[in-house]
Amino acid sequence: AKDAGRNTYQFHDVAQFERVQRRIRIERQLRGALERGEFSLAYQPAVSLRDGRVLGIEALLRWRPAGGLRCGPDEFVPIAEETGEIVRIGDWVLAEACRQARAWDRAGLRFGHLAVNASAVQMRDPQFAARVIALCAEAGWPTERLELEITESSMMIDSEALRSGLALLESHGVRLAVDDFGTGFSNLQYLHRFPVSHLKIDRAFTWSMLEDPAVAELTQAIVTLGHALGLRVVGEGVETEAMAELLRGQGCDEAQGYLYARPLSADALTAWLRERG
Ligand code: C2E
Ligand code: CA
Ligand code: CA
Ligand code: CA
Repeated sequence: AKDAGRNTYQFHDVAQFERVQRRIRIERQLRGALERGEFSLAYQPAVSLRDGRVLGIEALLRWRPAGGLRCGPDEFVPIAEETGEIVRIGDWVLAEACRQARAWDRAGLRFGHLAVNASAVQMRDPQFAARVIALCAEAGWPTERLELEITESSMMIDSEALRSGLALLESHGVRLAVDDFGTGFSNLQYLHRFPVSHLKIDRAFTWSMLEDPAVAELTQAIVTLGHALGLRVVGEGVETEAMAELLRGQGCDEAQGYLYARPLSADALTAWLRERG
């Protein structure tokens, strides 16, 4: 697609035309979606590969637009990042997830950390760290039990604002996890520079490691690297016992995936936690 100026495109084929149409439709429907109450959260647990204990719960954003459009976060989050809308949506995610986590905690359910995804656009906002702390305080959720999942690309922003933001979060005990680790082809210096504590192996690796020995070597290298740096390593997208077994054998610490639980509504996760109790 050649962008020949604002809102004009040259189309090479019908499929591309449809992609652009859809993008425009999503962008339009995202406007005001927060005010219309179209977002909700799903929650997925992460468990210890050693003893099965629940070590964390990740909040995952869901969107049900009024028009019946079906659209997952892999598609709409990048668009909300481009429009900047993700900053307000992200604040809502954090407030809502903290409120829910506190309710679980008050009900006596044990689950360790609450994990929330933060996009590079949010990390670039100089007020982000301070707002995270304020939102936790407002929701009555301890910052020591919050984990922010950020991708390698956010760590590549070499700015003083990011550095001081992460330092502020660290001083409040907020934990940082690198999401989709291994997909960024990035310089790994940030692992030393920033107070990261967890690496999350991308689900694409988890899926192909059983068939492809080269991928299995890569995940083993990630686990070894993580442990050498004193980090804990989490395998994502674990769907079968065989995947869990392979990761466990490699020394991977935690796992998340359909084998344990799909992303669930708050009520369904309450029941799941009670059952594991
Ligand atoms: P992610 O953070 O890497 O989240 C993991 C994704 O893998 C989720 O997709 C989850 O539903 C899916 N998943 C977990 N276990 C399995 C499994 O065993 N098999 C399969 N096939 N999939 C599994 P989801 O919920 O569609 O989210 C996609 C991405 O959207 C997330 O990837 C994250 O990058 C982004 N995202 C989701 N919620 C938020 C949010 O609140 N803020 C931001 N900035 N991004 C978000
Ligand atoms: Ca994540
Ligand atoms: Ca991930
Ligand atoms: Ca992802």
